[in-house]
Amino acid sequence: MGLVKSSNLGYPRIGEKREWKKLLESYWAGKVDEAIFHSEMKRLRLHFLEKQKRQGLDWIPVGDFSLYDHVLDTAFMFGLIPERFQLDVGDSILDTYFAIARGSQDAVASEMTKWFNTNYHYIVPELQGLSPQLKRNRPLDYYREAKNELGIQGKPVLLGPITFLKLSKGYDEDELDTWLDRLGPLYAQVLNELESEGVQWVQIDEPILVQPLDEKDFDRFYRVYDALNEATPKLNILLQTYFEAVEDYEKVVQLPVQGIGLDFVHDQGINLAAVSKQGFPKDKVLAAGVIDGRNIWRANLQEKLELIHTLTQVVALDRLVIQPSSSLLHVPVTVKNEEALEPLLKNALSYADEKLEEVVLLTETLNEGTSELKKRIQESVSAVTALNQSSARNNHEVQQEIDNLGEALPTRPAAYQERRVLQAKRFNLPLLPTTTIGSLPQTPEVRQARQKWRRREWSDEAYEQFVKDEIKRWVKIQEEIGLDVLVHGEFERNDMVEYFGEKLIGYTTAKHAWVQSYGSRCVKPPIVYGDVSLDQPMTVKESVYTQSLTDRPVKGMLTGPVTILNWSFVRDDIPRSAVQNQIALALRKEIEALEANGIAMIQVDEPALREGLPLKPEKWQDYLDKAVYAFRLATATVENETQIHTHMCYAEFQDILESISQLDADVISIEAARSHGELVNVFEEQVYDKEIGLGVYDIHSPRVPGQEEMAMIVDRALEVLAPEQFWINPDCGLKTRKEAEVIPALEAMVEAAKQLREKY
Ligand code: GLN
Ligand code: ZN
Repeated sequence: MGLVKSSNLGYPRIGEKREWKKLLESYWAGKVDEAIFHSEMKRLRLHFLEKQKRQGLDWIPVGDFSLYDHVLDTAFMFGLIPERFQLDVGDSILDTYFAIARGSQDAVASEMTKWFNTNYHYIVPELQGLSPQLKRNRPLDYYREAKNELGIQGKPVLLGPITFLKLSKGYDEDELDTWLDRLGPLYAQVLNELESEGVQWVQIDEPILVQPLDEKDFDRFYRVYDALNEATPKLNILLQTYFEAVEDYEKVVQLPVQGIGLDFVHDQGINLAAVSKQGFPKDKVLAAGVIDGRNIWRANLQEKLELIHTLTQVVALDRLVIQPSSSLLHVPVTVKNEEALEPLLKNALSYADEKLEEVVLLTETLNEGTSELKKRIQESVSAVTALNQSSARNNHEVQQEIDNLGEALPTRPAAYQERRVLQAKRFNLPLLPTTTIGSLPQTPEVRQARQKWRRREWSDEAYEQFVKDEIKRWVKIQEEIGLDVLVHGEFERNDMVEYFGEKLIGYTTAKHAWVQSYGSRCVKPPIVYGDVSLDQPMTVKESVYTQSLTDRPVKGMLTGPVTILNWSFVRDDIPRSAVQNQIALALRKEIEALEANGIAMIQVDEPALREGLPLKPEKWQDYLDKAVYAFRLATATVENETQIHTHMCYAEFQDILESISQLDADVISIEAARSHGELVNVFEEQVYDKEIGLGVYDIHSPRVPGQEEMAMIVDRALEVLAPEQFWINPDCGLKTRKEAEVIPALEAMVEAAKQLREKY
């Protein structure tokens, strides 16, 4: 081993061909028994470790593997099982574990939420009424397994106690210290046992250190890590942070641990500047996250060497570790199988396996610097440069259009209050108009039809005819139900982002770019690799066809620029906002084409607007301003009589309401049924003057809601909002629901609207 070490923080769980996902789902479906399940999982786990070993990594993480989620694993190893799951005594412990994540016959699942600013979702631990006990030393088990089976002396990975507690719920603010006092000794026990086993380094993840913390929190960090450090004099603790610069560099690097892990990719240069200016403690190891753990692009390794060079001005080589910026959980497994991609693009990609290769190459170059290694560094520069100089990234027409935009915020010709009058006249809708959010049930037949077409078993014509028939059938159903504003149903779309990714220039979808979203659920974000533009309409055909079947208005249906960007892998050679504006310009052309073809209402969905908010509050405004700009860039050129809708499926709203209002959409629909009236309270304090539909029923559940309960939700909303501005709609799209659930639910919704119209 050389002076500089190479390391990894976590490896993707899903497998090259999503074997992990398939195994989980087979187990849930009762197709494999528990014994086979465990042995197959072990095989996968060892395979992942072996791959990392073959790469020549010095520090290989163990215990990062999970059967569902690492936050749930942490709760589970401390026996933090919410009471409602403790009842099924007959069940195996594995089934209890899955029940917490997925719910069971008698108990609803624990909540799931976003893991920091990623698209990974973790299970929120519920601590109410529980007291922790060490049920199993999970990291130790995995350490032993790797050692016995593969001769790997792994680096056990644990989620740290403070981040764990901050992500949990079911305790009051003032109980945090009590909880820390309970968990602290258990963590100490885990570490003690690792120490006795001969473990050298353990990685403790405390990503909460990149978010705002107060004095008290830092005191907690000192208290907890002092205790852990004292309990394990021979064990080295690496305190790992990621996704942003740490909040208070000085305090973080002085913590009583032997190593600090910092992100030098997503820190906007702040971590790097802090290391250079303030130095780094001589007695600590710096684990430098220099390879992007969140994106799929190959790195320019020459630039990375320069970055590392800056670090070596203050950190001795034997105290330096080279690693990805975060766990590789957030990137796909390997580029190797992407045979269908253009070589220029494929050559500029790097998924988990390739990223580890980059890490090792950098490390070896620092340690040995042979000419062979230098040649390989040069290859990375050429690969990146070739893509940067390709025509895909140098579309002068697009760049010219962007340059010509000017500073001013794109603005509709008339102000909202004026548009409102014109639109009311044009559409002549009843009070409390009813509509849906866009997608209608994606039945197995719809999916099968798409598959047959994809596999070329069906011709384009056959598939298009199928979609048309489905649209026609549903126009009739919607009319019979009595909805006021119709949708085409999105039958032709697999996914609200991928669909556009496949149609826009500069975008592509890779076949194997899967990443875990939650549990066994994987997503394949499309890839923005070049300048984005539109060469032909994407949605006009379906919308125009639908409108031709009915006299009622049909909403055109698009995904907005912010959401498309947030749910894609995005090129990193230009600012994200520049890509966002290119997407917005392409959408503007689509919207203009819809309008020119007689579509008078156009919905531009932005469900990812809120979840894209940066981790650091001081960056929110800039993010929101750019989002508002892009949305308006896409939507502001339409006539006053054209009605722009938007949709967002979350209820936490109060802190961004002003920006949402600035989108200047004529109508917004948002989730409200699940948030139990919390959303409505917002409008008690803040004014919203445009039209708005608060979801009246939860589409996430198969339950068919009754007319009365929906009417009650509207009644409550109308205490704070005017009936003239109110729309009646479900919480979100209906694609995951069955036809037999959707029709009665919408019938009841329309009945509720009729009943309410009498009253207001
Ligand atoms: N129009 C989309 C649909 O109905 C919106 C989905 C979403 O908000 N996530 O499916
Ligand atoms: Zn939604």
